[in-house]
Amino acid sequence: MSLSNILGIDIGGSGIKGAIVDTETGQLVTERIKIKTPQPSTPEAVSEVVMQLIGEIGYDGELIGCGFPAVIKKGVAHSAANIHLAWKGTDIEELLSQKTGKRFIVTNDADAAGLSEMRFGKGKGVCGNVILITIGTGLGSALFTDGHLVRNTEFGHANLHGMIAEHYISNTARKKYKMSWRTFGRRFREYLAMIERITSPDLIILGGGVSNSFDKFSQYLTIETPVTAAAMFNHAGIIGAALYASEMYALESA
Ligand code: BGC
Repeated sequence: MSLSNILGIDIGGSGIKGAIVDTETGQLVTERIKIKTPQPSTPEAVSEVVMQLIGEIGYDGELIGCGFPAVIKKGVAHSAANIHLAWKGTDIEELLSQKTGKRFIVTNDADAAGLSEMRFGKGKGVCGNVILITIGTGLGSALFTDGHLVRNTEFGHANLHGMIAEHYISNTARKKYKMSWRTFGRRFREYLAMIERITSPDLIILGGGVSNSFDKFSQYLTIETPVTAAAMFNHAGIIGAALYASEMYALESA
C-alpha cells in the first residue's frame, strides 16, 4: 500500500474537510473539499458525509487518516464536547471502516494539526515543550516535548474564571459574545498565561480557523513565551490526520 498519498479528513464541529496529502512533503495534492457538519452530528449522519467526501475526492486508496474533536484512545471516542453525544464510546475506526470499506486511523483533531506543524511547519526542529492550540468551534491542544506527542491533552477544557476555557475563549465564544479583536486578544492572553504557568512551553503555535486572523489580535498576546500562527493555518488538521495514519500504519506493519 502506498503510504505517501493518503486521504486526510478533519471532522470538526462546523465542517468536515478533506484532501489527499503527500505525506513526504506535507502538501495537499488535491483541492480541499469542505462539507458542513450535519446537525444533529450523529455517527450515522457524519458517516454519510464522510462517504460523500471520499466520493467527491475520488480517493481509491485503502488508508484514510481522520482527525476527530474528542479524546481518542485506540480509535474510540472518550468525550464529545462539540459533536453529538452519541459519539462517546463509539469505535470510530471500526464504524467508518465498516461504512466505507477503507482502513481508518483516527486521532484527536488538535493532535493531528500539531503533528503537521511539528513535521513541516513552525514547530519543525524546535526542542523543549511546544504547544499548538487550535481555535475553532472548540479549543483544541497538542503538546510535544522534543518533538514527541503527548496525546489527548485537552487544555481547552482547563478551568478559567470558573468556566471551561473553551466556553470563555474559542471562535464560538467570540461570535456568541460579539467580541472585538481587542477583547478576544485580551481574553486569549489570559488563557495563554494560564497555559504558560502550567506547562512552561518554549513555543506556542496557534492554529484553527481563527489563526487566519492572527494579525488582528497578536498584539495583545504579551506573554513571555513566543506565540506564532500555524504555517498551514487550517489545513494542518487534514495534513496531520494523513501523517498520523501513515506513521501508525507503518509502525503496525514493521
Ligand atoms: C474537544 C477536543 C478538540 C477540540 C477542538 C474540544 O471541545 O474536547 O478534543 O480537540 O474541541 O476541536
